[in-house]
Amino acid sequence: MVTDGKGVDAGLLQTRYRLTKQRAAILRALEDGAHLTAEAIHERVRAELPAVSLGTIYRTLDILRAIGLVQVFAHGGAARYEAALDKHHHLVCLACGEIVNVPAPQVVSIALAVAQDHRYSGVDAAMVITGRCARCAGLARNGIGLS
Ligand SMILES: [Zn+2]
Ligand SMILES: [Zn+2]
Repeated sequence: MVTDGKGVDAGLLQTRYRLTKQRAAILRALEDGAHLTAEAIHERVRAELPAVSLGTIYRTLDILRAIGLVQVFAHGGAARYEAALDKHHHLVCLACGEIVNVPAPQVVSIALAVAQDHRYSGVDAAMVITGRCARCAGLARNGIGLS
């Protein structure tokens, strides 16, 4: 075991430091408000830490989630991570894939009323609204082929 002058395990310190670096890099990758898959986060983090593996990204994301620094949003395909921590819902454009955070506090009261009818407690609700964003709707109107 390698120790520094104070008898601290240098290997452990190094591991901790690496973890901290990875956490910071992941949080930086998410700071533009994006909702990214672990693969996309991996791509961004590798620009900064080329040696980091996808497995490490997943493990670090689990830690960040456990300590409340990222949230997960899943719609359709893979889970997406984001650094926004407030309770919010999502608008998803089916044409370009844009994901917008929306507060929509009314959702909670609807969910509570429905849950009460079924005698559910510990209620949580997440709303996903899909559609076409203004930009994509405009492109479609102008006859630029969007289904
Ligand atoms: Zn769109
Ligand atoms: Zn979100």
